[in-house]
Amino acid sequence: MSKHTFSIGGVHPHDNKISRECPITPLPIAPTVYISVAQHIGAPSVPCVAVGDKVKVGQVIAEPGGFVGAFIHSSVSGTVKSIAPRADLAGRATTHIEIAVEGDEWADGIDTTDTLVTTIPEDPKAIVEKIKLGGVVGLGGATFPTHVKLSPPPGSKCERVIINGCECEPYLTSDFRTLLEKGEQVVVGAALLKKAMGDVPCTIAIEENKPEAIAHIQDVIAKLGYQGIEVMVMKMMYPQGGEKQLIDAVMHRQVGSGALPISVGAVVQNVATALAVYDAVQKNKPIVDNSVTVTGECFPKQANLLVRVGTPLRYILDYLGGVPEEAAKIISGGPMMGRAVANLDAATVKGTGALLLLTEKQTKRAPATQCIRCGKCADACPMGLEPFLLNKLSKAADWDACEANAAQDCIECGCCLYSCPAHIPLLDNIRVGKGFVLSAIRARAKK
Ligand code: SF4
Ligand code: SF4
Repeated sequence: MSKHTFSIGGVHPHDNKISRECPITPLPIAPTVYISVAQHIGAPSVPCVAVGDKVKVGQVIAEPGGFVGAFIHSSVSGTVKSIAPRADLAGRATTHIEIAVEGDEWADGIDTTDTLVTTIPEDPKAIVEKIKLGGVVGLGGATFPTHVKLSPPPGSKCERVIINGCECEPYLTSDFRTLLEKGEQVVVGAALLKKAMGDVPCTIAIEENKPEAIAHIQDVIAKLGYQGIEVMVMKMMYPQGGEKQLIDAVMHRQVGSGALPISVGAVVQNVATALAVYDAVQKNKPIVDNSVTVTGECFPKQANLLVRVGTPLRYILDYLGGVPEEAAKIISGGPMMGRAVANLDAATVKGTGALLLLTEKQTKRAPATQCIRCGKCADACPMGLEPFLLNKLSKAADWDACEANAAQDCIECGCCLYSCPAHIPLLDNIRVGKGFVLSAIRARAKK
């Protein structure tokens, strides 16, 4: 079977999927949840409940705050206790809706049965509307509102839907488990996305290190009999699941600097998003929970948990026996692209896919030495950038030169940092430059 990959850069970190045998199991509901109104790219949502209100699971508690926005639903039944700023995963004060849990009563009209619904609605617009009402956002990390992504601007046309089942980040296994355990729903979700985009072909891309998932999804496609959906086996290569890299690998098309995937006819959604699309359209079930991998060599219990949105991280870790003494750092996400957790009282959001616990030894960086101009960082960069140069320009605060050298195209994959024999904190510095360049670009666009 031929295997596919992107054409430039990439690295081969050890995949460390030590939680791959852990089935997704529901975490008992926490006594109190804290639901952020800023869980997606775009304007924060606007609360539509008040302190003292009784809410049910799946009830809308915040409405979109702009065109690029999303509905937010209660993940529990209970009473709204407060609507106030609270530190999020990064430590930023963000408005959260605090709900004290009472029972587990679901809002009317949500189908909570396991019955598989395979009939695809005829009207693409009705599919997109249900995705919007379900508060679906990209769950592969970007959290971009899915209904917006499925509404191409005038003049753009989708030619292929790609479902990202690569899960190329080391340690993460929740997408793999979702493919194995919810493969039917993922394939129906893919068929819905395909229909929403005008019955275009659909590719489900899965990395070669998940042979059980590849075989299972191929069986499901054959069993359900949908036409125009295929599985593509991808080489193990990081960052295979990067949107632009996946489009290159599947369609052999390059998304230009600053352009969207739709500019080359592609719409990419990940496996968890396809499942959320199935839930929203076929079961009227909005996003109220998500699968979270909890893992790390220092952690005695590996797990994949189904977690209600807004669950405090401390509650999750306590359920699994608490944070071991050896754990020096907790990352939300994987080791390459994840972000350090600033506070354990922060609550999960729709996009929380993993908690990774690392020891001091695993996180300690060797002291940086002089650049030896080996070019390894440039060879590894999947965006064709020159990380050594961007690092230098960023440190010199030369933002114009950073922009001229496309710092804004950096996808923050960390391949440069991973490859550098001089241990220069390339990504940390480039991220600063990218931030300034993006602010300047946004300011110019407003004028
Ligand atoms: S972090 Fe940015 S500069 Fe470094 S390899 Fe990835 S895309 Fe290139
Ligand atoms: S990999 Fe490190 S040492 Fe080599 S050119 Fe890049 S920054 Fe310099």
